[in-house]
Amino acid sequence: MEVIQSNNLGEKISDWYTKNGRQNLPWRYDISPYRVWISEIMLQQTQVNTAIAYFERFMAKYPDLQTIENATEDDIFNMWSGLGYYRRASYIFQAKELIHAKFKGEMPDNYDDLISLPGVGKSTAGAILSIAFNKPYPILDANVKKVISRIFFKKNFEEKIFWNLSEDLLDKKNIFNFQQGVMDLGSQLCLPKNPKCDLCPVSSNCQSNLKSEFPLLSKKSIKRKKEFLEFQLIQKNQKYFMTKENKLGYWANLWMPPVSTANHQKAEIIHKLSHRELNINFRNSNKKPKNIEGKWFHKKELALIAIPKPIFNRLLIDG
Ligand code: SF4
Repeated sequence: MEVIQSNNLGEKISDWYTKNGRQNLPWRYDISPYRVWISEIMLQQTQVNTAIAYFERFMAKYPDLQTIENATEDDIFNMWSGLGYYRRASYIFQAKELIHAKFKGEMPDNYDDLISLPGVGKSTAGAILSIAFNKPYPILDANVKKVISRIFFKKNFEEKIFWNLSEDLLDKKNIFNFQQGVMDLGSQLCLPKNPKCDLCPVSSNCQSNLKSEFPLLSKKSIKRKKEFLEFQLIQKNQKYFMTKENKLGYWANLWMPPVSTANHQKAEIIHKLSHRELNINFRNSNKKPKNIEGKWFHKKELALIAIPKPIFNRLLIDG
């Protein structure tokens, strides 16, 4: 096993954060387990700059577990509108239901209960435990992985080794500043190309810097299944007919125009999901299908309901 030499790397990172970190990010003050949880879920697939406005809007409406208790899945989808990856919003809904049913409306403060919540993986549980409860649990998000691969010159990701290194690196005397610091270091200094090593607090211990070679962990190549979809755009007086009925097996509970699988060569939009490549076309129509339940929405209302991102973008152009 890798042994971290006692160069106080963790402490150097916490100190650096105290002086240089982005302490004004909204999820880094008024800390509560709930705020950390929501921010971690939002940041899973969303850039920090985009997440800020969504996080503030979410907190203005649902500042804590009590205010979100009676929210429906649709209410939470609405807060997510335009952010994409709606499964995250669905997980928040399911998890808050569980927290109220099983944990007396309090965010669990132990690993086993946290990991039992939908959408909470090992790294999110680690973030909640360390940042909100000050417990020495490691995090392993994309930024932390990158910093670890650079400091220890690891060209390939090996899960167990990286978790051990993240745990060993952790500054147990200053858990909060360390965790925020290592994430900031990954996003602000340890850039994929041209990392800013001259500003980095661990440059004298970083093996990549010493070798002047900066590995990048390769992303797993995913084989995506091709699917062909055709949406029927039904418009009348600036209103769209939208439905929640679809047999796609994904995008459950989201509003969209009636959709069918199709067979076409060209696609107006290609949209990638984690395991699918969607080849999407649209067809204008002025007739609402008889056998589909739905609602008419004025184009101004579209931003207020949850619609899959590529469809939402297309409707905006159309409107
Ligand atoms: S010294 Fe450079 S490569 Fe190493 S962790 Fe710091 S920024 Fe990244």
